[in-house]
Amino acid sequence: MKRTRTKIVATLGPNSASEEVISKLFDAGVDIFRMNFSHGEHQDHKKVFDTIRKVERDKKRPIAILADLQGPKLRLGVFESDEVILAAGQAYQFDMDPAPGNDQRARLPHKEIFSAVSKGDILLVNDGRMRFKIVKVQKTKMQVEAMVAGTLSNRKGVNLPGAHLPISALTTKDRKDLRYALSLGVDWVALSFVQGPEDVAELRKLIKGKIGIIAKLEKPLAIKHLDAILDLSDAVMVARGDLGVEMPPEAVPVLQKEIIAKARTKGKPVVVATQMLESMIDNPAPTRAEASDVATAVYDGADAVMLSGETAVGSYPVQAVAMMEKIVRRVERSDSWRTMLATTPRKPESTTADAIMAAAHLAADTINAAAIVTYTSSGSTALRAARERPIERIIGMTPNRTTARQLAMVWGITACMTEDAKDMDDMVDKAIAMVKSEGIAKAGDRIVVTAGIPFGSPGKTNLVRIARVN
Ligand code: PGA
Ligand code: MN
Repeated sequence: MKRTRTKIVATLGPNSASEEVISKLFDAGVDIFRMNFSHGEHQDHKKVFDTIRKVERDKKRPIAILADLQGPKLRLGVFESDEVILAAGQAYQFDMDPAPGNDQRARLPHKEIFSAVSKGDILLVNDGRMRFKIVKVQKTKMQVEAMVAGTLSNRKGVNLPGAHLPISALTTKDRKDLRYALSLGVDWVALSFVQGPEDVAELRKLIKGKIGIIAKLEKPLAIKHLDAILDLSDAVMVARGDLGVEMPPEAVPVLQKEIIAKARTKGKPVVVATQMLESMIDNPAPTRAEASDVATAVYDGADAVMLSGETAVGSYPVQAVAMMEKIVRRVERSDSWRTMLATTPRKPESTTADAIMAAAHLAADTINAAAIVTYTSSGSTALRAARERPIERIIGMTPNRTTARQLAMVWGITACMTEDAKDMDDMVDKAIAMVKSEGIAKAGDRIVVTAGIPFGSPGKTNLVRIARVN
């Protein structure tokens, strides 16, 4: 099966952690598996990790593994009677008192919140279903007024859209999880509740080697600092779940388009996440609106679309991936999508790599090439090729296994392991052998090859060659 240009991320969980299901998910179109560290024990993650690597060996195709760190998810404490019902307009209190909550007050065990909010701010509970206006703040307690009627229950999540919380995006748990994920050897790490570039910088310091960092954009502050966050990250995720709680729903589609456009301009991969086929958690078919949502992300040119609950806890994990793959494939076959690619303005930056990629793209279009083959060691050249969004398939040839796996998340790239070319003839021979074995080109077709001379020196792409497949 030729895989789609837009990549598919599937979150693994209780309903999808077996080798049988992971293998089926891959066959249905998954390129990246996400391990969600908000749930599960380390030994569960290790089992899943080992299983994915086993499937990777069986399928002989690089597969990316993403560790998603929980981040500082704020939560209420517990209640005397598990749940309280509040009326609209009711006065209420949040405080640091460890006693279980009741219909007068609830525990909010995050000291930083009290110094970061002010009178008039909004506090949201349970994905925004309960809203409070802050009336008065003291050191360890705050008076609030319920803006709507509703319930509070044990350990429900809290969002503070307006506040800049003086907390790191890496909690003690995240640091432990990160160490564990690094020891396993994941390819990508996602950082939750990023507020600014300093959060990404902090993670970067803890990561040695070349694991890619995905900044999850789920707070208004992250949107404000989008440029700086993009510059420091290797990729970003439009995390529409929390973003849609912290911002009004009507802001999310517009932000999604703007984030994708900006990430594409900078050549950073962008993942669109959450509720894409939500109804497939309980149903074997999606709503038409969900199908349209996936298609929109593809038309926008996202690098990848993601499934969460659909594959982690849903009853139809394989069907959800198969459906997502079908929607993506259908868009990518359409004239409207091809027109979109062809008419996207190309704005190469004034670097040698971009000049080579712009030339390779133009050459490929001119001769109707079957593929663009890029030799890439760190993956950065392949990223610049993907940034061009050419209609031709891009083969990323790399001697580096981690690079190959990371490129599984990048738009349009088929990543292949290879040894460095010895000379120009070897470079062409290897490229031709690869496109033939991938079933992308046949005898008589032409391909465009890019590489760096001297061979094997990273960051030196300086050559475009056109070759005919024999
Ligand atoms: P989560 O992130 O699933 O880890 O919360 C995604 C989102 O918020 O959309
Ligand atoms: Mn989130």
